[in-house]
Amino acid sequence: MASSGAPKSHIDAAVQSLNVLKLDKASIKTQLQSAVSSNTDAFRQALVNTLERRLFYIPSFKIYRGVAGLYDYGPPGCAVKSNVLAFWRQHFVLEENMLEVDCPCVTPEIVLKASGHVDKFTDLMVKDDKTGTCYRADHLIKDYCKEKLDKDLTMTPEKAAELKHVLAILDDLSAEDLGAKIKEYGITAPDTKNHLSHPYPFNLMFQTSIGPSGFSPGYMRPETAQGIFVNFKDLYYYNGNKLPFAAAQIGQAFRNEISPRQGLLRVREFTLAEIEHFVDPQDKSHPKFSEISSLEFLMFPREEQMSGQSAKRLQIGEAVSQGIVNNETLGYFIGRVYLFLTRLGIDKERLRFRQHLANEMAHYAADCWDAEIECSYGWIECVGIADRSAYDLSAHSDKSGVALVAQEKFPEPREVEKLVIAPVKKELGLAFKGNQKMVTEALEAMDEKVALEMKADLESKGEVEFHVCTLGKNVTVKKNMVSISKEKKKEHQRVFTPSVIEPSFGIGRIIYCLFEHAFYLRPSKAGDEQLNVFCFPPLVAPIKCTVFPLVQNQQYEEVAKFISKLLTAAGISHKIDITGTSIGKRYARTDELGVPFAITVDSTTSVTIRERDSKDQIRVNVENVASVVKEVTDGQSTWDDALKTYPLHSSGSAED
Ligand code: AMP
Repeated sequence: MASSGAPKSHIDAAVQSLNVLKLDKASIKTQLQSAVSSNTDAFRQALVNTLERRLFYIPSFKIYRGVAGLYDYGPPGCAVKSNVLAFWRQHFVLEENMLEVDCPCVTPEIVLKASGHVDKFTDLMVKDDKTGTCYRADHLIKDYCKEKLDKDLTMTPEKAAELKHVLAILDDLSAEDLGAKIKEYGITAPDTKNHLSHPYPFNLMFQTSIGPSGFSPGYMRPETAQGIFVNFKDLYYYNGNKLPFAAAQIGQAFRNEISPRQGLLRVREFTLAEIEHFVDPQDKSHPKFSEISSLEFLMFPREEQMSGQSAKRLQIGEAVSQGIVNNETLGYFIGRVYLFLTRLGIDKERLRFRQHLANEMAHYAADCWDAEIECSYGWIECVGIADRSAYDLSAHSDKSGVALVAQEKFPEPREVEKLVIAPVKKELGLAFKGNQKMVTEALEAMDEKVALEMKADLESKGEVEFHVCTLGKNVTVKKNMVSISKEKKKEHQRVFTPSVIEPSFGIGRIIYCLFEHAFYLRPSKAGDEQLNVFCFPPLVAPIKCTVFPLVQNQQYEEVAKFISKLLTAAGISHKIDITGTSIGKRYARTDELGVPFAITVDSTTSVTIRERDSKDQIRVNVENVASVVKEVTDGQSTWDDALKTYPLHSSGSAED
């Protein structure tokens, strides 16, 4: 308007209307958000009530008021967990011939010192100055920024941009930065509004001591991976000294989370299923890559995240060939994880693979992707898939003195130029006496660049100052104490530290997301009630089928027991319910446990099978019923096939 010469009064009026519209827009956005979040809260409440009432899980030590971050699985939860783990073993361990191990949870300090956990496995914590209650510093800042962005209608665009930026770089902020932000934003303890301490690192490992002396410190393992790394030498030998190969482990992990929240998603003891796939760093191709290369799913590469775009559908084959995913083996596991999660029943539209930003990755990692599943808490990391290069094996080689390496034998010997460092022990002994061993070891451990610089200095000056880490000081090395040369040698093999590609599955997180994706409410026929249903695929369902005599009658009970025997012989988990409760109530009770099929005995020769979600029923002879259920639950055929083969039972509304 200004450029077309409109009068100032018109411009002012237009600006004013724009401001009103802006406020309207912000208030509609807030109303929408609060409608969505109250829906989400109601959904979560209904789900959690059902899960706890039907004993899928139970807060641990409940009669003593429980402990935050610790949960028990009850009977149906245990069955779901064991189905998920059985499928994990089939889909990964069996399919890839992985070497499964089972290592102790109690781990000596030296192992976790070598892996870096003793020094670095920390979160930054703040304490309520008066009550001593602890909080994660980054969580408080995250909550503050999100709340302001959601609810503060008067915020300027500059302030909003600043808060968004803080959210984006939160993982990068040091203790000092976080402390400064807490001060700047006036953040106080959420429960008491008391002043907070400065942030300081808190190690998440549970410490213990091994044996009665108290001299042998240990920790409860924070991950299962270290058990595999320390066994590398034996596993490599077991595998016929051949690469690539993978080892796998399922077991408990322990993390003393500062303030566990989000139910089963952030707990202090949980089941991890981890794979360590060892591969030659010079060849990260995968022989079975073509089997998954055409899979297409939501991926969220680094570039899209940085430029504020959303996740996009990509073919994994293309993602690897375009260099978005670092290598074929990493891509192969991303594809296999996608198949694993979707076959369990995770909704593929609410599953994405997010690449770590450069600041999230450890310096040694080549590339990392998280399988994130969307649930009522947002997008949650459920599986981490990382190319950790040679870091872990090198760290344990250095600390233990045992070479965790692989060899590649050459068909023909190859001539190579090698650096030879030969310390002259006699001279070193005379000069350094008791320290001779440490000086010798430090000289032998020099890398090529340092050694060649020393050679040049010794030749020009005759002596050189040399720092020996293990002595914590410099010593003077003279020309007669060491000979450094480059020699041509014939080599018959290449010795190298393998790279490791690690998919790491948080089983509890996957199960919780499965619960969310499978849960729905449907109105009862009378419309007076909402009935809870879990639409678990048969693979996951805690019980595959129920057997109900329609009415209490001895003949029907005999048939029900006969069918139960057939189901047991076929290895199908089932439940027989001979109570006289109405059939509709019995169906509703088992729908709430996610049982996919119900057999109702309403005659002595044939029975009906009802499918949980469609409520369709077919009529099948008593002798055939177990094999029909087995075929459909094992995935050899589908319910649609059964519908085509067997007559539909038309009085299918018996339950209502
Ligand atoms: P990380 O080693 O931190 O990458 O964790 C590996 C996997 O463990 C993650 O992808 C999560 O699924 C799971 N996880 C990590 N911390 C917790 C926790 N406190 N509670 C439940 N699962 C967790």
